[in-house]
Amino acid sequence: MLAFKTCPHCSHNNLENAIYCFECHTCLNARPPVPGMIPFHHQYNVDGKVEFEPEPVEMVVERRKTRDYLTHLDNGLVCLRCTTVNKSDATQCVQCHALLNTPDEVYQLSTTGSAQSSIGQSRTINEDEVGLWGRGGVLIALVADGMGGAAAGEEASRYVREAIQASFAGISNGSETLEELTESEVARRLRSAVLLANHAIMERIRRDESVRGMGTTATLAFVRGNRAVLAHVGDSRAYLINGDGITRVTDDHSFVEVLVASGHITRRQAAIHPMRSVLYRALGHTLTEDIDIYNLSLKAGDRLILCSDGLIRHMLNEEISVIALRSQDPSEITYELVELANQRGGEDNISVATIVVKHDTTPAPIEKLIPTPCEMLYLNGDEDKRRTTKQVPSLVLDEDED
Ligand code: CA
Repeated sequence: MLAFKTCPHCSHNNLENAIYCFECHTCLNARPPVPGMIPFHHQYNVDGKVEFEPEPVEMVVERRKTRDYLTHLDNGLVCLRCTTVNKSDATQCVQCHALLNTPDEVYQLSTTGSAQSSIGQSRTINEDEVGLWGRGGVLIALVADGMGGAAAGEEASRYVREAIQASFAGISNGSETLEELTESEVARRLRSAVLLANHAIMERIRRDESVRGMGTTATLAFVRGNRAVLAHVGDSRAYLINGDGITRVTDDHSFVEVLVASGHITRRQAAIHPMRSVLYRALGHTLTEDIDIYNLSLKAGDRLILCSDGLIRHMLNEEISVIALRSQDPSEITYELVELANQRGGEDNISVATIVVKHDTTPAPIEKLIPTPCEMLYLNGDEDKRRTTKQVPSLVLDEDED
């Protein structure tokens, strides 16, 4: 049975291996926990202009309860070292000064990303989740499309985001050594994060009969240098786009895809088939989930696009390709794709995560780390000395711990 870690600060039930609270960023790893004190930077859109302002944790928690900000949201880039949300193109975490988006010196490549989600034009809730995490030269991107109606769908897809954060974020989760993992270790870590989400959803259904039927897709990419490892369940998609054209990387685990593969219907018929959103594989269906893993080589100029079916139903592959190649800026590409789907009716929630690979010879700057909230606690006399950074922390907490 799955245990949850309840945050003493905001009462959110976190997955058991979370180091930072998913909602308020409180460090859960030490006694007593450090209340949420990371300056949360919340990015939102006002009249087409992207603004970026720090907000107190309490306001963020309140605002998340209402979810009214979820119209068209750039999710920002979450620092895997301390979970602070940074601007998507940040090269350094505003809180702990960890390097983000560091160029790969061997392959002379840099990877930047953006993840955005829109409620669309006809739905009343957004059941999709997107995510973007970074540390050093590693980027992790996610698109998850929840199902189940009412609050169940958004909860299911949120579990995937939580599971990635709980599995990869924080120094004791190995956030500092992600660049050294072999590809099979990366695949194993991605797989176990997806299984953790699946387990949490199944556990939620077991405890509450009323949410039976909740589930989600999960398409995530771990990108480092010239390689990407993808984990995938459901009918969200990953596309690789470059000068040679657009290639769909993932298979849809949908009923109509089986009919297309067996020659019963054409792809055109599948696009308007009444059962087009019925999946034969999704998280929340069974405890032992089969997860597809894909390994890709990347080169300068490549774009990796993850998206929910809310984008695909309004766009041809060629159109996605044209927009993706028009700009070098992942935020611009993501925004344009989401906006065009909205202009064409936005019948479903629309989510896109874009990663752009560029030629880059800039040497990585020297990293001058500041202790994370968890580390600060160790300074205050906690017996747990699992600090892995070499720097001697010099900061002392002076915030009121309410
Ligand atoms: Ca959908």
